[in-house]
Amino acid sequence: MVVEQFGNQVPRTMEEILKLPGVARKTANVVLGSFYGIAVGVVVDTHVLRLTRRLELTRNTQPEKVEQDLIRIIPQDRWIQFSHELIHHGRQVCVARTPRCADCTLEHLCNSGDKTWSSH
Ligand code: SF4
Repeated sequence: MVVEQFGNQVPRTMEEILKLPGVARKTANVVLGSFYGIAVGVVVDTHVLRLTRRLELTRNTQPEKVEQDLIRIIPQDRWIQFSHELIHHGRQVCVARTPRCADCTLEHLCNSGDKTWSSH
């Protein structure tokens, strides 16, 4: 489809890239943001879902709704980097089962019920 319909170029718009089989908003945001540097949305993967709820940035659970919440509160020039930062934090510190809250630089901002240690 890239060859036949898009002239050998991965599309640069959300509307077009979503036409590719198997591509949903998460993949589209990764390609548009990290490959082309175009911020049209925020990548919401399993780490972003978990951390945004723990950090009370959203009450939603559906990725599309979480993305809309993040778009409202994160400046557009931070959208691409924000996802990378959360995914990195989610892999290294705020892991799913036993978050390493004692080592977390965001601990003073976090009121999650999942916390394993708390200073407040
Ligand atoms: S304090 Fe714990 S639960 Fe909160 S963001 Fe940090 S690691 Fe995650």
